[in-house]
Amino acid sequence: MSNQLEDFSKWYIETIQKADLMDYTPVRGCIAFKPDGYEIWEHIQEAMDRRFKETGHRNAYFPMLIPESFFQKEKDHIEGFSPELPWVTEAAGEQLEERLALRPTSETMIGHLYSNWIKSYRDLPVLINQWANVFRWEKKTLPFIRTSEFLWQEGHTAHVDEEDARKETMQMLDIYKEVVEQVLAIPVYDGQKTPSERFAGAVDTYSIEAMMKNGKAVQAGTSHYLGTKFAEAFNIKYLNKANQHEYVHTTSWGTSTRLIGSVIMVHGDEQGLVLPPRIAPTQVVLIPVGPWKKNPQIMEQLDEIFAALKAKGIRVRLDDSDQSPGFKFNEWELKGVPVRIELGPRDLENNQALLMARDEDEKQTIDLSHVVTAIEEELTTMQTRLLEKARQFRDANTHTTIDTLPQLQQHIETAKDNGTIPGWVLAGWCGEDTCEEKVKEETKYTTRNIPFNPPTTKTTCICCGNEAKHTVWFAQAY
Ligand SMILES: [Zn+2]
Repeated sequence: MSNQLEDFSKWYIETIQKADLMDYTPVRGCIAFKPDGYEIWEHIQEAMDRRFKETGHRNAYFPMLIPESFFQKEKDHIEGFSPELPWVTEAAGEQLEERLALRPTSETMIGHLYSNWIKSYRDLPVLINQWANVFRWEKKTLPFIRTSEFLWQEGHTAHVDEEDARKETMQMLDIYKEVVEQVLAIPVYDGQKTPSERFAGAVDTYSIEAMMKNGKAVQAGTSHYLGTKFAEAFNIKYLNKANQHEYVHTTSWGTSTRLIGSVIMVHGDEQGLVLPPRIAPTQVVLIPVGPWKKNPQIMEQLDEIFAALKAKGIRVRLDDSDQSPGFKFNEWELKGVPVRIELGPRDLENNQALLMARDEDEKQTIDLSHVVTAIEEELTTMQTRLLEKARQFRDANTHTTIDTLPQLQQHIETAKDNGTIPGWVLAGWCGEDTCEEKVKEETKYTTRNIPFNPPTTKTTCICCGNEAKHTVWFAQAY
């Protein structure tokens, strides 16, 4: 396995391939999700979907092909997405009258339909989510993090007024933050995007931002208040209580399979994946060690533990293949299985088993009578521990005392010379696009978001030195 810090990308690609999460296909930028990769997504989906439904949303499905004329209706939207749209121009041997885009997102199709579905204030709010694939023909791709086709969920809601729509926008951002922190064990900063980083067609975009182990940022989820822009473009009006026509206010919000990539880049180590228990396809692996084939009692005992864990709904595997224990340890470590239980003749004699947590260095000795409880406890504490470790790493790599562009350049240079991570920088910004652009050009650092709860507040712009309107996270981003 490649050294993680020396060549992070190489480490990442090797890790996801060896852990059997994905494979490349002949279509550039389009990957296959293998079962272990897909199951991580399924557990993320379960966590999200449950919360969507608890807050009144329902799932629906919309077509993948979108007529070109739909995109022309919202000017910012087409400008933002047209460079990366793949088109269907021919079907059944004939040229289509109007070419159809493979959806990059579904605001336009859904806007068209909502204009028919929504007639009166009684129809509102409309709270719909879609689990689907989308296409954005990217020049530079990286499995899970940025691919030409990816899986995601997109919520699309319509409301009577701005207040209700903004409440929804924030509610969904909070749900994203909760899932990413509590289920994926990734700490995030929630905040507002600057205008240049806004979703094409949004009034306001909010995001959660996560730090990877190489210090780069990943936008882990976004929630948009769309105002009446799509309502006006698609004529989505309702009759209010005073019997007058009004435009609805809409929102959209999304998270995607890049969360899989984020989990790997946040928790993984030199031995491979480290998966938070809540999303691990296999949470516990049982491995017989020593001359176990001559001791039928070992397998009997392991079968018993296996059945007890299974009965509790824990995802457990028993590895009784004829590979050596050392080989098996490496394999399951590579796959990031949270807890490993070893049982050999001597352990059995002492009425104990060994428990190894994927993210720790020391094995624990567990009394056989408590083994199931001990595993349950370890899965719970590991989940919290991973979040805490990631938080410590992030906090150690965020910098809040860099206040000028030369200081930032110096900081990046020093990190390069020392082989350390430059990480994120919290700095002031005057609100001018030109300053944002200049920082990007000179350092590749872009604005990530204007955090709701910054560690400190900045008073001068990092670029021009004028009064800062906002305190912003700057980072290199995927
Ligand atoms: Zn400035």
